[in-house]
Amino acid sequence: MTNLPRLALIAHDHKKDSMILLAGEHLALLQRCRLMGTGTTGGRLQRELGLTVECLLSGPMGGDLQIGARLAVGEVDAVIFLRDPMTPQPHEPDINALVRACDVHDVPCATNLSSARLLLRALADEL
Ligand code: PGA
Repeated sequence: MTNLPRLALIAHDHKKDSMILLAGEHLALLQRCRLMGTGTTGGRLQRELGLTVECLLSGPMGGDLQIGARLAVGEVDAVIFLRDPMTPQPHEPDINALVRACDVHDVPCATNLSSARLLLRALADEL
């Protein structure tokens, strides 16, 4: 149980439908992971797909920072962060901090659908 991959899921508003689509495609795999997510993203994954997700604060309220803090102490194995590159975000500094934390700690971070699919395929191969 403790060795399940710990995966953080975050999607900006215009990318939330893509996250649901992605998660639906990989449901069996995600059911075998320990999932955490920012509040709204995590809530939708729970409601719409029945996944068990630890919901943290909403991104603009500090959820990205919570995930970054966990990641910095080794509590996150991979991040799928579907960012919206076309819309300014009020919590841009938090977003940058999370992506930076992934780079500092060499944690895989997929920021678009194609890279997320590759990440999940690699994860499935490891399980
Ligand atoms: P949300 O946060 O899932 O609570 O919408 C995502 C974000 O905007 O970082």
